[in-house]
Amino acid sequence: MASLTCPRCAAELREIDSAERVTLDFCAGCKGLFFDPGEVAYYFELARDVPDLEQSRATARATDMKCPKCAGPFEELCYSALDSLVVDRCTGCGGVWLDQGEVPRLEALSAKLESPGSRMLRSMQQIRARGYLPL
Ligand SMILES: [Zn+2]
Ligand SMILES: [Zn+2]
Repeated sequence: MASLTCPRCAAELREIDSAERVTLDFCAGCKGLFFDPGEVAYYFELARDVPDLEQSRATARATDMKCPKCAGPFEELCYSALDSLVVDRCTGCGGVWLDQGEVPRLEALSAKLESPGSRMLRSMQQIRARGYLPL
């Protein structure tokens, strides 16, 4: 497969395997990360990549960034009404680009967004990882 180009700084993206069974495309130049559709939800344990996509897209702004996967244009959208975090999302494939510093912000935000159910799920995953096996 041809290497992917960073939509932000045009450096080559590298694949990194996270411990969470998601392969992320990481830019060593600007430290941004590309998430394929569904990977933001998976990685941050959310129901959807963008919680209120229709609402976020209503105020989205077009950007010059091109998607490394499908070459579609990115748009800049407010991730959630709960926070001022703005992320870039591909209008073609729905992939999401997070700049350096946006990952920890989304991590903090996801703690507010996730449902009690997924928090439970995460706790279970953590204790299973420490060797606990439910019957
Ligand atoms: Zn870059
Ligand atoms: Zn795309």
